[in-house]
Amino acid sequence: MSHTDLTAIVTGAASTRGIGRGTAHALAADGWNVSILDLDEGAAKETADEIASTHGVQAFGVACDVTDEASVEAALANLDSSAPPIGALVNNAGITSPTRFHDVTGAEWDRIFAVNVRGAYNITRRVTPGMAERGFGRVVFLSSVSAERGGGVFGGVAYSAAKAAQLGFARALAREVGPDGITVNSVAPGLIDTDITGGALEGDTKTQLVAGIPVGRNGRVADVADLITFLCREQTGYITGATYDVNGGSHIH
Ligand code: NAD
Repeated sequence: MSHTDLTAIVTGAASTRGIGRGTAHALAADGWNVSILDLDEGAAKETADEIASTHGVQAFGVACDVTDEASVEAALANLDSSAPPIGALVNNAGITSPTRFHDVTGAEWDRIFAVNVRGAYNITRRVTPGMAERGFGRVVFLSSVSAERGGGVFGGVAYSAAKAAQLGFARALAREVGPDGITVNSVAPGLIDTDITGGALEGDTKTQLVAGIPVGRNGRVADVADLITFLCREQTGYITGATYDVNGGSHIH
């Protein structure tokens, strides 16, 4: 079965300038049918329409709060009855926070883990059994350079811990599902130009961060989207449990 007969799910892909939307476009340009899962149904459907008309693939926009099991179940039941089988899952939905450790409340800590970690669990466990039955699957996690270098970009301790949890999640899952034809990898972007910081990273702080990036600029959504598309290809079947840095050299290890 070719990936052109399959669907790639991208969570959190409705954000206008986000990595998810750029990735959904890149996957569709590569021939994948695409399903956009995001909090806002209208924005998800609008993104799907844009992708279908640009790339001539099937695209579906579905409301989904990845932290809520019932919402994930409803979204995937919807896709089961309307979309081609799921061949790839990009766990992109995420939130960040710069709150310093001594100020992070338990509620904020839990929320960051709920979206970044539990959300990925809710959806991944629902789609990998079908991938295993078909003998093919690609799962990609959006971790962060913050997980590797211990923050230092925008996200604080809670975000760095949640993004590091994703790396362990992906590596352990890669071992379990490798025999079923499913690869599981992570990408760890550095500073990418999106709206995730809500405009809170501007001016001198941003200038200083860019000054520490060897390639001399912050990252673009396309830098990450291209890598994810590569990891989702059928031919990329011998890479699993890996973490790919996309950080312009801001963290070399
Ligand atoms: P973004 O804020 O533009 O997009 C995030 C998307 O996730 C939004 O569309 C939002 O609606 C969605 N989302 C949030 N909570 C959700 C939930 N509970 N259920 C479903 N969808 C939900 O962010 P982005 O910069 O494109 O980031 C995408 C991913 O990449 C995130 O996981 C982020 O942590 C990671 N990342 C981003 C950067 C960066 O510099 N932008 C760097 C490293 C990693």
